[in-house]
Amino acid sequence: MSDNFFDELCRKALACGADRAAVVPVEKVETDASFRKLCESNVCGNYGKNWRCPPCAGDIDDLIAELRSYRYMLVYQSIGRLEDSYDFEGMMAAGERHSTLTKAFIQITEGDRRLGRHVNLGAGGCRICPTCAKKDDLPCRHPDKAITSLEAYGVNVSRLAAAAGMKYINGQNTVTYFSGLLFDGTEECHA
Ligand code: SF4
Repeated sequence: MSDNFFDELCRKALACGADRAAVVPVEKVETDASFRKLCESNVCGNYGKNWRCPPCAGDIDDLIAELRSYRYMLVYQSIGRLEDSYDFEGMMAAGERHSTLTKAFIQITEGDRRLGRHVNLGAGGCRICPTCAKKDDLPCRHPDKAITSLEAYGVNVSRLAAAAGMKYINGQNTVTYFSGLLFDGTEECHA
């Protein structure tokens, strides 16, 4: 796999608005099945209310096994500025911006055959639709575009940040979101 292809993927993520991007081998991505308990506590309100959040997203052990079947993960982060640590609206706005950049990144990379087998992972529940169809117990409207979160795959995001040479927390009055792209790459990527 060519480093140039990795660099190209990183540049594309940055061009979409990410603050940092890096490719790591999947062996460096730490996962923990016990994270599913955090989702079950439903602090975010998405548990059972979003097709790409637990429990609908799938069994945690199956998702971790799927993750381990890929070779690489592109990790990218965006840092949102907050007025203060209680700036809930600022957090929501930063989450929306991150979702928008994730969708833009997916759009500009989706047809790239050099990725080979791949899957995109986002931050939190899928935000392709303003309101997930699961809330009305209707089928997913865009199963081909829906994005599962890193957390649903049991990814330890703070350890992922370290593995990718990034900070998980980027200073007072900031909020940081992460997305990922799992991929195998093809022979076409070799220099
Ligand atoms: S595409 Fe829409 S309906 Fe499907 S998981 Fe995402 S938000 Fe829900």
